[in-house]
Amino acid sequence: MSDHVPSPGLEKLLAETRPTPYLALDPQVVRERHRELAAAFGDAAVLYAVKACPEPAVLRALVESGAGFDVASQPEIDLCLAAGADPALIQHGNPVRGPGAAAAAAASGVRRFVTDSAEDVDALAAEVPGARVQVRLSVDDTGSATPFHGKFGALPDEAVRLLRRVADRGLVPAGLTFHAGSQQTRPETYAAAVAVALRVAGRAGLARPELDLGGGWPVAYRGPVAGPHAFAAAVRAAVAGAVAAGDVDGAALLLEPGRALVADAGVLRATVLRVSRRPGIDHRRWVYLDVGRYQGLAETEGEAIGYPVRVPGRTAPDGPAVLAGPTCDGDDVVYRRTPVPLPLDLAAGDVLDLLCTGAYTASYASVGFNGFGPLEVVVAGAS
Ligand SMILES: *Cc1c(COP(=O)(O)O)cnc(C)c1O
Repeated sequence: MSDHVPSPGLEKLLAETRPTPYLALDPQVVRERHRELAAAFGDAAVLYAVKACPEPAVLRALVESGAGFDVASQPEIDLCLAAGADPALIQHGNPVRGPGAAAAAAASGVRRFVTDSAEDVDALAAEVPGARVQVRLSVDDTGSATPFHGKFGALPDEAVRLLRRVADRGLVPAGLTFHAGSQQTRPETYAAAVAVALRVAGRAGLARPELDLGGGWPVAYRGPVAGPHAFAAAVRAAVAGAVAAGDVDGAALLLEPGRALVADAGVLRATVLRVSRRPGIDHRRWVYLDVGRYQGLAETEGEAIGYPVRVPGRTAPDGPAVLAGPTCDGDDVVYRRTPVPLPLDLAAGDVLDLLCTGAYTASYASVGFNGFGPLEVVVAGAS
């Protein structure tokens, strides 16, 4: 069970009766999280990572809040523009672009790109002459629940070479970016990455670079996490250290939060399909839901993200349970190791809420594996 209290807008939606499973979303919560993060980081620019929740109502709320967007594909660019985004505030942050993708983004007005390879720098120079380019560093991501395992980014020496190549090819070397891994709980990890990035900037001759801190800002799923101010303080100290060391004169900060802006804005309501005892296999009850790994709970792979669970209106004492999805796939078990205490009188037909599920859920749902999905989204305040 959980101490999390969904917003009034979410509780109002959940009080209505509709078929499950569905994700209830409250854009008002997104506005509040954006305000908190932006306030903690002072004059940093916020580029929301669209992949966390590309729902149009969320994008519109962030446009109204003055945020920009971090995108990975043309369809994401189109979604942002349809929500009213200024293309000058859209950054193409995916260094894996196919031929023509950068040119198409530029035709939509996008002028900011991220790179991490010489091959991509040359492609950008050919397709978007004069564009602003950040080089992505590969950094230590200790403390992340869902690390990148080296998929993106260049090491410092190569990043220096890439920034010079960007300039040599007629592009604008804007600065450095990194992603310290999602659900990153350690402010020290950001501080260390900032120090490395600003040393690279200095070596490449950038006195006042853009420093894009990427995403990773954590959410208090089943336990407390450091708040935005702790991360901002660590980052400010690291920037001050780099200035004191003579690496740079300063840095223009950008943030690319995904999870931190939208997780608390969502509640996934599910129905219990069966509660069964499994003699000789498990001493715990198995609780099968109408939602699982393939209907939006992809981040429960490896039990990386532990959503808080509540059963509305129940007062019976809790006992341990395994939570599983509805499909015939053996991997479709949501929580087996992570303890899930559930009321002992839980029965088929009961509804159950997975809290803090606004990030990385609906957009991850399969189109219909085993006939289940995709996940319905219901937005608070929509008429
Ligand atoms: C996914 C992603 C983000 C957002 O990450 P969160 O951990 O959800 O904050 C930011 N930037 C880039 C480049 C990403 O790929």
